[in-house]
Amino acid sequence: MRERSVLAVTPVSDIKSAGVVGGSLGGLFQAVALAELGVDVTVWERSAGRPDDRGAGIVLQPSVAWFLSTFCGVDPDRISVPVTHRQFFSRDGRSHHTLMEQRMISWGAIYASLRDRLDSARYHDGQPVTAVTPRPGGVDVHVGDAVHRVDLAIIADGSASRHRGLVAPDGAPRYAGYVAYRGVIDETELPEGLSAVFRDRFSFYDGDRTQFLCYFIPGDFGATAPGSRRANWVWYVRADAAGLDRITTDRDGTAHGLSLPPGLIAPQVHAELLDRARTLLPEPLRLLVEHTRDPFAQAILDGRVSRMRKDRRLLTGDAAFVVRPHTAASAEKAAADAITLFTALQQLPSLEAALEAWERNRLAEGNALYRHGVGLGQRLGLNSPSSAAAAAGEATP
Ligand SMILES: Cc1cc2nc3c(=O)[nH]c(=O)nc-3n(C[C@H](O)[C@H](O)[C@H](O)COP(=O)(O)OP(=O)(O)OC[C@H]3O[C@@H](n4cnc5c(N)ncnc54)[C@H](O)[C@@H]3O)c2cc1C
Repeated sequence: MRERSVLAVTPVSDIKSAGVVGGSLGGLFQAVALAELGVDVTVWERSAGRPDDRGAGIVLQPSVAWFLSTFCGVDPDRISVPVTHRQFFSRDGRSHHTLMEQRMISWGAIYASLRDRLDSARYHDGQPVTAVTPRPGGVDVHVGDAVHRVDLAIIADGSASRHRGLVAPDGAPRYAGYVAYRGVIDETELPEGLSAVFRDRFSFYDGDRTQFLCYFIPGDFGATAPGSRRANWVWYVRADAAGLDRITTDRDGTAHGLSLPPGLIAPQVHAELLDRARTLLPEPLRLLVEHTRDPFAQAILDGRVSRMRKDRRLLTGDAAFVVRPHTAASAEKAAADAITLFTALQQLPSLEAALEAWERNRLAEGNALYRHGVGLGQRLGLNSPSSAAAAAGEATP
């Protein structure tokens, strides 16, 4: 049994119950924080079973680290891998380093810490929410034939949010013109000597309108001992709409739209990826791609909303802002959404004041990250002309 958080809490009296739509990181951060406030929280998650984390890596940022240690009783250093340097490759495979200490964590390690913290009776998987409707003094959450009455609803159903429009008239994400191919390799499966090239380093290669990154992340169950970690790489490659469709259509011809899960890449697309790696990448990075059994891919999207609350329904995580992965801030933003709401509910004198302050703060940060991400994509030459023009044409709301 872990110790409870030492934070003193004074629950806002109007919020005794909350319903969370979506049980990924964004929903879980909110659920755990609200439970800390003494709120009776229920999470409904559409997918059944434990999600496949795809082993994907996440840069450990301050709000996530604070959340894990303060609300989950987990020492983030125990489930993350340190890097001491940034390493920059040139095309001929040579590299130079600069000192930069950071920690890398995996999606799965964060997810497991949050799920462990939340009473399992509060989490209902395989239960899609079909409607989130306001009523005086609260919200009705519709799940199957049941209607659950809650005082506050958190909509955390991700970038493809079905319920975003209930709160914001805008915010549907737009394709930015490039994809992230990704891969993870168990450290023990790396070819001789390659582990030492990437160990303790956050590696970068900026090519012509392309960028490649690599860092180590924890292995299964947050394992961080040498030999049990994984190399995690991300390769940003431009693709027009037809190219995106090709990449995300799997080996059986099924179209997946904006992402391709591991294990499904079509042989022709995989062959092209390997060819491209041989032509474009410095040797150590090429070897990573060649030794990856199941590369997967995600479309890079831009999305932002002009509001994050309507009556007692709040948008959080990627349902509100989808920011570029170059910012390394999506999980961080979702954690900060929850911490800010926790603090506002705890400290401000009324529910209206708390929600107003929360929304103001989160819109400002979401917009800043959105613009920062588009700017980084532009600097790397990755933005499609239409995505750059559309992003530039959008004045700050
Ligand atoms: C493979 C991968 C790699 C990533 N890498 C990074 C990274 O390196 N750095 C980083 O900062 N971020 C990364 N992210 C993004 C980061 O995980 C998210 O930004 C963060 O988790 C917040 O997401 P979210 O919970 O808002 O949305 P999501 O993770 O998209 O979750 C939305 C959830 O809502 C559920 N849902 C949808 N509709 C309904 C419904 N009607 N009823 C109930 N449930 C519903 C979905 O099943 C899903 O579980 C990555 C994400 C993925 C998938």
